[in-house]
Parts: sequence; C-alpha cells; structure tokens
Amino acid sequence: MHRRIIAPGALAAASLLLAIPASAASYSPGAPGIGDPYYPYYGNGGYDVSHYDLRLKYQPTTDELRGTATILARTTQDLSSFDLDFLLDVSEVRVNGIRAAFAHSGQHELVVTPRTPLAKGTPLSVVVRYHGVPSAKTAYGFTTWHRTPDGAVAADEPEAAWWWFPSNDHPSDKATYDVSVAVPDGMQAISNGTLQSTSSRLGWTRYNWRQNKPQATYLATLALGRFDITTSTSEGGVPVVNAYSKNLGDNDGAARASVERTGEIVDWLSGYFGPYPFGSAGGYVPDTTTGYALETQTRVYYSPKQFANGSNTSVVVHELAHQWYGDDVSLKGWKDIWLNEGFARYAQWLWSEHEGEGTTQELADYVYASHPADDAFWTVKPGDPGPDNQFDIAVYDRGALAIQALRNEIGDKAFFTILKGWPEKHAYGNASVADFRRYAEQVSGKPLSALFDTWLFHTSKPAAPAARTASLAAASTTVAQPKSWRTIEATNDVHGH
Ligand SMILES: [Zn+2]
Repeated sequence: MHRRIIAPGALAAASLLLAIPASAASYSPGAPGIGDPYYPYYGNGGYDVSHYDLRLKYQPTTDELRGTATILARTTQDLSSFDLDFLLDVSEVRVNGIRAAFAHSGQHELVVTPRTPLAKGTPLSVVVRYHGVPSAKTAYGFTTWHRTPDGAVAADEPEAAWWWFPSNDHPSDKATYDVSVAVPDGMQAISNGTLQSTSSRLGWTRYNWRQNKPQATYLATLALGRFDITTSTSEGGVPVVNAYSKNLGDNDGAARASVERTGEIVDWLSGYFGPYPFGSAGGYVPDTTTGYALETQTRVYYSPKQFANGSNTSVVVHELAHQWYGDDVSLKGWKDIWLNEGFARYAQWLWSEHEGEGTTQELADYVYASHPADDAFWTVKPGDPGPDNQFDIAVYDRGALAIQALRNEIGDKAFFTILKGWPEKHAYGNASVADFRRYAEQVSGKPLSALFDTWLFHTSKPAAPAARTASLAAASTTVAQPKSWRTIEATNDVHGH
C-alpha cells in the first residue's frame, strides 16, 4: 500500500526531472552549416567529431555501396537535433545506442533527432546504416563520385564525402579514420593512411585502412578498382604505399616514373617544411577521365592525364607539399585557401630551382611582368578570393608571388624559419591567413600588414614602387620565361572540377 503511493510520486518526480531539460529553451537544433561564408551549408553546428569508423561493401557491377558508419563526437551545445552531410539512403540511425529519428533535408543534410535531447559536452556514438548507388546521387546538380571502368573513386574538393560517408563536412572538424571496405576478390580498395590488414572470405576481400592523425573530410579518399600496389620506405624512413590502376595503358610508365619518386620528394620537402607529419605517404592513379590531382591525406589522387606527356614530378611536389600546407595544417575557413595553394605552388618553384630550371625569384619576376595591369589576374585576391575564384590561377601564381615578396622583405633566415616552423606550430590543427601574418611578424620582428595587403588583398596590380620594395623586376622589364614555366603551367588544372 505504502509502496503504491510512493511509486507514482517517484515516477512523477523522475519524469519532472527529465522534463526540465527537455523543455528548457537552451535545447535547439544544431545549425545546418558550420558557419563558413563561402559554403553556408557545409559542415554542421553543435558537435565536434573525433573519429569515423566506416565499414563498407562495394559492388562494382551495380555501383552499390552499403555499410555502417560509427561516428564518435561530442556535443558543443545543448542539442534537440543535429545534421550530418550525406546523400545515400539511410535505414537506421542510433545515437548512443538508441534508435533516433532521421530525415533528409535541403541539398545534403541528414537531420538526426535523438529520442532525448543532448546536453552540451555529451559524448556521442552515432551509428548510421546506409546503402545506395553514389553515382545516382547529386547535390546542387553535380556529383563528385567518379565511376571508372573497374570501380569508382571519391576524391574532390571541397566536397567528396557526401557520396560515401555521413560527416561533419568541413575542414575545421578534423578526425581520425578507420576505413574498412570489402570488394570482390581480385579488386582492391585504396584509402588513407596505413593498410592494417586484408582478409578474404566467400569471394570478397576486405581492406582495413587506418588514418591515425586528424584528417579533414575532403582529404578522406576511397578508390575501388583493379590496382597494382607498391610499397617501399624513403631514405628518411617514411613508409610509402602507391597504387596504379591496371588499365593505365600508355600512361602507366610515366605515372610510375613520377609517383614512385614520392619518397625522394617527401624527404626533399622535409628539408624545407620539417619532419613528414604522417605515418605513411603515397599516391594512387585510378582509371579516370578527370584532369586534376588532389592532396588526399597520405594518399594523393592523380589523374592519368597528369602523365600524358611523360613523367611529371612537379605535380607530385605540389600535392606532397600540401601534406604540410593543407593537410597537417588545414585552413580554418575556405577563404584561407592561399595557405594551401600559394605554398604548394611555391614548393613547385623551389623544385624548379632544385632542378636548375629557374629560380623562385625568376619565376616571381615572370609572374609579375607577364600579367599587365589590366589583366583580370590582379582582380582576384589570393587572401580572400571568394568561392567562385577559390581555385583561380591567381590563388596559385599570385599566391606564390606573394610568398617571394615576403621572403625578399624579411630575408632568407626568417623566411625559412617560418616555412619550417608553421607546420610545427599548428600541427594537426587549423589556421587562417591572419594567423600566418601574425606568426611571420613574430618570427621576423617586422610589421607585415602593408605587405600582405598589397600582395594578397588588393584587386589591382601592385605598382612599381611596391615591386621594387619586394625586390621584383620592374613591370617594364622583359623577363625571360623560366624553363620550368610550361611544366608548372601544365599542373594548373590540379583542382579544376
Ligand atoms: Zn593544390
């Protein structure tokens, strides 16, 4: 009797306790975008991911991908629901073990509503079961999932994840990855990091890849097809894993003659940028018809076309330079793209000098002299180019020119200290152009606002006095085209869609 009276009261008290946070105004949906003005719906608000565990199976004859993603995260605000960026068909979502409601929304949002709201600071395990045909899915009218005659490839910038795993798709939320993919025997699955193991069962081979350092979502890659995998170790001790489609035809020799130099180039870049930041390096060349390359972390994506005219070490230098500038230190927002592309292009200039095909100074002089003042080239601000010009040639060439101007202003000693110190200062993190300027000022002891404004943020050609100050050849001077120019120019479509 006594118990019966107490029990409902206790229950009422308990449900009242639960009801207080649920009804409190602080619980609200996480934002559908992480707050990047270039791409308002990329990434999401309200949580931070630490790890993606992807267990997948791919059938090349139908392009069907199915599997389970387990995402480890922590809430950064009180949440009633949150979004993931994803396009495939979802059959079940669980949040901390409990089935959650879900619905597709907008261009690429998957809205997840847990049964009970989530307080700020709550650890999350989000399990998403899914399947679908990635090549049949589009957002904003496009797909970046590339089918090949023998499989498919996911590698693109700034968006590639939506077609193969649910994520917080913005470089400011980096995480570690385990990517496990089963493909029919005779096929290979290539991803980032180290190949932990493979196993075969009932006609399927499973590849288990691990990326144990933080990685931006757009730097996660997946290639499914028939590959020849090579392994080696660089002189400096970096393990190298490369993969070549078995269908590269006449490009096969040039692809291997370029990408097999990965270890040598990683060691050479280490001399400028400091120790290689990851546990393995490498690249892969799938049988695609695309023209670009991409700095997918530890496993660079190259198109066969990059090797159509013979070996191309310049593109290998560019993509491997990104392992420090872009992958190890990632941009805070997409407006900071100069920190990626300006430095990767400058590394190509350093390689040109190393090869005796033109110094960085000669290349900078040539860029400055060969674009007249009325050239649209000067209207693009490398320091904040806008989403439409994010991969404009000015971000690369004007971006590298700005780096030479900085070097001439502060001297080689400070400059090379900065080049090596920056990846160490922001290792595995994110940084902005403004962070870089402050760091360069701190190391060099010089105010650099005016120099950065002139070379990165003006929409007109810096005038002769600015060029003189930066020790560049005057605009009126005829500057000979450096020998490496055409080779470097041929890599200009590295990030073109
Ligand atoms: Zn690049």
